Amino acid sequence: MSKLIVAKFGGTSVADFDAMSRCADIVLNDPAIRLVVVSASSGVTNLLVDITKHTDISERYACYQGIERITLAVLHRLAQPQQVAADIDALLGALKDLIEQGGAVYSGVHKDEIQSFGERLSSVLFAQVLRERGAPGLCFDARRVMRTDSRFGKGEPQVGQISQLAALQLQPLLADNIVVTQGFIGADDAGQTTTLGRGGSDYSAALFGEALAASVVQIWTDVVGIFTTDPRLTEQARCIKEISFDEAAEMATFGAKVLHPATLIPAMRRNIGVFVGSSREPQAGGTWIAKDVKERPPYRAIALRKSQTLITVKSPAMLHAAGFLTRVFDTLSRHQISVDLVTTSEISVALTLDEGGMTSAFSASVEPALAELRSFCDVSVEQGLSLVAVIGNHLHSSKGVTGDLFNTLERINMRLICHGASKHNLCFLVQDADAPAVVKQLHQNLFSAA
Ligand code: ASP
Ligand code: MG
Repeated sequence: MSKLIVAKFGGTSVADFDAMSRCADIVLNDPAIRLVVVSASSGVTNLLVDITKHTDISERYACYQGIERITLAVLHRLAQPQQVAADIDALLGALKDLIEQGGAVYSGVHKDEIQSFGERLSSVLFAQVLRERGAPGLCFDARRVMRTDSRFGKGEPQVGQISQLAALQLQPLLADNIVVTQGFIGADDAGQTTTLGRGGSDYSAALFGEALAASVVQIWTDVVGIFTTDPRLTEQARCIKEISFDEAAEMATFGAKVLHPATLIPAMRRNIGVFVGSSREPQAGGTWIAKDVKERPPYRAIALRKSQTLITVKSPAMLHAAGFLTRVFDTLSRHQISVDLVTTSEISVALTLDEGGMTSAFSASVEPALAELRSFCDVSVEQGLSLVAVIGNHLHSSKGVTGDLFNTLERINMRLICHGASKHNLCFLVQDADAPAVVKQLHQNLFSAA
């Protein structure tokens, strides 16, 4: 096969029958799209997660009914619902069984099993939408290929095995079918269902693209690409036509919500171009993410991440002493705390943690580490800070970058700055309350001339 495109449709793109029909248009317009990866219809995964949180059967059942309503609304719009009615019935029945038979609390494996139903339902329906449009749509269970370890809720893809399984199970189907499969879900060695973490369908699409040596992975969503900054912060935000892997990876890590942060890793390994566009307005173009881009301007985008915690550790004993930093980072690593920004002076270290991105409560995961740090140094904690990241190219070596920044922030208290370690980003912290205005002003100063 000369050119293979993997197209992924997100939750809003497959929210209902009309949305699915727009996605079918996109698929039918491009014969190179042979693999389609779908998310659960919008809202369904949240309801499934709610099921796993409730202990009360009637509350679980109320969530189930929401899912049933979304599913049947699509089913009833199909021209030949009877073609998939049995499959949909079987899935809904199996979900109901898990609700009725689940004990008071679900184990990790059961949580993932339950969360898998959203994608399993939407993929059956979307394959039928394609068939009704005359295309050879075939629904394929992603768990046959998407091998992960057994970390439920955040399965780690086993890339080597995924490639082998894809060659065996999936590749042969692509010549004669448009294969529709599920994002987000996988299975471990024992065949138990796993998930890649919330928002993981983008990552699935890139992993499938890697395994099949696709030329392009398309991510169809509800925005017309990646913007220079969050359009809610400034009306001057605009869509980026082309961006390099390095820059886009920085954006995803520093808070741009368009892509799951791991998505670009498989694409970069295989040099597969990634396109992000809106399934509502495919004609509006979108953003191309690639290894080689025509232009590498110093400023590409500004990302904002709220709810950062700044921890400052200080030890007079650090003066002329070796090993203090090792002790600090060793403590944090034993408590599995991931640090984002770091600055140091002779006797103190300041570092930031992404509180918003933490899975468990901040105090539960961080307090034990702080207690240990307090045993050998002074520790202070500041919350309510925002991390602003200026993303671009050659930032460490371009003239005038710091001047542009300091001019903009003349009247702002910049709490910390990290510059020089990466050529693709320059990060600083401001108070949460100042952050929106800072981003707006910075955008005006850095982008309006371009
Ligand atoms: N359905 C999953 C979620 O909502 C995965 C995805 O849509 O990417 O998190
Ligand atoms: Mg998503």
